[in-house]
Amino acid sequence: MTALEYSRVGFIGLGAMGKPMVEQLAAKLPAHAHVYVHDVVQASIDELVAKFAGKVIACRSAREVAESSEVIITMVPEGAHVRSVYLAEPNGICSIDLQDRILIDCSTIDTATNLAVKQRITDSHGRASFYDAPVSGGTLGAQKGTIAFFLGCADEDPKFAMLSSLLRLMGKQVIACGGASLGLASKLCNNYLSGLIAIASAEALSTGIKAGLDPRVLSRVFAAGTAQNAICDRFNPCPGVVADAPSSSGYRGGFKVQLMKKDFALAVDLAGSVGARLVLGDVGLRTYESAAEDPRCRDLDSRVVFRLLGGDEKWEERLAQQNGQN
Ligand code: NAD
Repeated sequence: MTALEYSRVGFIGLGAMGKPMVEQLAAKLPAHAHVYVHDVVQASIDELVAKFAGKVIACRSAREVAESSEVIITMVPEGAHVRSVYLAEPNGICSIDLQDRILIDCSTIDTATNLAVKQRITDSHGRASFYDAPVSGGTLGAQKGTIAFFLGCADEDPKFAMLSSLLRLMGKQVIACGGASLGLASKLCNNYLSGLIAIASAEALSTGIKAGLDPRVLSRVFAAGTAQNAICDRFNPCPGVVADAPSSSGYRGGFKVQLMKKDFALAVDLAGSVGARLVLGDVGLRTYESAAEDPRCRDLDSRVVFRLLGGDEKWEERLAQQNGQN
């Protein structure tokens, strides 16, 4: 069966990511297919049902979504929400006989919760399958249908082709990460690394500016040298270097610093649980905790660590003044 043969797809969690993902599904699934949706916020359901009348169908609970759908996608904030959506009685997904349904959790959560939910499904619903498939690419990527999925299965998984064709309706890339919960492990390692690159980039840019460098020149040096990285190239933490980076619009849009704090903490926990030694974990986590609590940074793009570290956001004015004096 290919994804396009599924005519009843469920989706639970219609927030910043879930809503545009449903919009992609509603636009791309064949005409006869329906998307069954639920969220604890009624207004989020109503908005989608109004926009895709007849195509997107409202459900009053996760259980009702499960009853109506062959494949169910979940996209909620944290492990506790995932437990509730799947395991709560009497309205969770697992409160019905799941038969051969396919369940895909796209939330970024801890691997232990993911494996615990998988175990419960294996124990009580032997024919059903449950996959982790966290995403990268942010809300803009979700709106454009360009996100990447890190799927917790092997390349040889008999369902990989079907899963891949379904997920590609909402994104560009689907990477099979090797086995259960390894999609999540991949996502957490990725965010650990990109979170640290953002801090290091902010520090290096701030140092360079204080030493008299134009951060645009310094960023060109990084791009040409061994420090080249996607954060500086596309999400430069210093305002005014990359025109469409969140930093250049007051750090609005992008990946909220509270989400980076959450993912960074999950990555540090994962390292602890598998016995991996981290030198930068504690300091990185403290940095994102401070930024998430700082009123100058909260709710803004995570690259706002440049502001937290006292980076000079008015470097252009200062450079102009200096040039005027010379
Ligand atoms: P969000 O808070 O905007 O949306 C989550 C939605 O889940 C909300 O609408 C909420 O009402 C709903 N929800 C919570 N508990 C529920 C329940 N028990 N039943 C039904 N609905 C419930 O969050 P988001 O930004 O969409 O993020 C979702 C997940 O995706 C998170 O794990 C996040 O880390 C991850 N993620 C987010 C981004 C991003 O840029 N926002 C990028 C990649 C990954």
